[in-house]
Amino acid sequence: MIPLASLQRTAEELMAKAAIEIPDDYLAGLRRAADAEKGELSAFVIRAMLENYEAAKHDRRAMCGDTGVPRWYVKFGNEARVEGGPVALEAALRRATANATRNVPLRPNRVHPLWRTDHDNNCGIGAPEIEYAFHPDADWIDLITVHKGGLFGTDYRMLFPADGLDGIKRFYLDTLIQFGKRGLACQPAIVGIGLGGSKDICSVLGKQAACLRVVGDRNPDPRIAAIEEEFIELGNAIGMGAMGFVGSSMVIDCHIEVGYCHTGGMPMSVHMFCLSSRRACARIFADGTAEFRTDPMWFTDYMRRSTVEWRAPAAAAAE
Ligand code: SF4
Repeated sequence: MIPLASLQRTAEELMAKAAIEIPDDYLAGLRRAADAEKGELSAFVIRAMLENYEAAKHDRRAMCGDTGVPRWYVKFGNEARVEGGPVALEAALRRATANATRNVPLRPNRVHPLWRTDHDNNCGIGAPEIEYAFHPDADWIDLITVHKGGLFGTDYRMLFPADGLDGIKRFYLDTLIQFGKRGLACQPAIVGIGLGGSKDICSVLGKQAACLRVVGDRNPDPRIAAIEEEFIELGNAIGMGAMGFVGSSMVIDCHIEVGYCHTGGMPMSVHMFCLSSRRACARIFADGTAEFRTDPMWFTDYMRRSTVEWRAPAAAAAE
């Protein structure tokens, strides 16, 4: 049984790591972009950000003044048990968020949408978001925190199946140009695209694609992987670089996740994981020990399973 105290301690450590230490995969991607960028202002921004990450790590301070909106992803091994059960786990994650807001510190960004009430701790109705998933044959729990920035860097459109790949490309490019021109999310970014699902799941998939896959990771479907690679090139060919300045470094990586959708539509969402691509992960074992890593390992074969173990009734009747 995983002790609750270990879980909360690990959660607080994760909150600090996410806010302060840029993940290695994004850092390596940004260094490659810095080497390739020819646009003067764009290259200047990237170099300044690389220095900023170093300073944040050295001073143990948040890498951006806007510390985003902390959220949690929890993956339960099927055999995992937590002291106090899932309700206690959820309370521990909310407490860890509030404690980290005070101790890291994080900016208390969360307010009531109408009354702007601020509890000064990033907790409120529906905040922080906590998403759950499961994994077979395991007794650990994976905790992942993402401090998503880029407040306006998200868009959604319902396409028709006949729009095809050209329609997907058009919406992708329209979105990048709008985001770049209007400064809606600090680039270079990891772009996540959700294709399919219902409207809500399409958005969930796109955000997870942006935040929960590491730079360089490709979708296991080779046809989708090829689109991801094409989209990185396309996104970096629109003439905009870091922060929308002239250049060629808008996109550090592009990840696409799909979900089955209604036959009449093709929902699509686009999400930017901004210059502060903040995520931190740990696996907590039954004895309470934690292993920290930077790869969320969220999209497993199990997470992407396609259908049920099922045989057509005719085949079953023939036996
Ligand atoms: S978009 Fe990202 S890098 Fe830009 S201000 Fe917001 S959190 Fe900071």
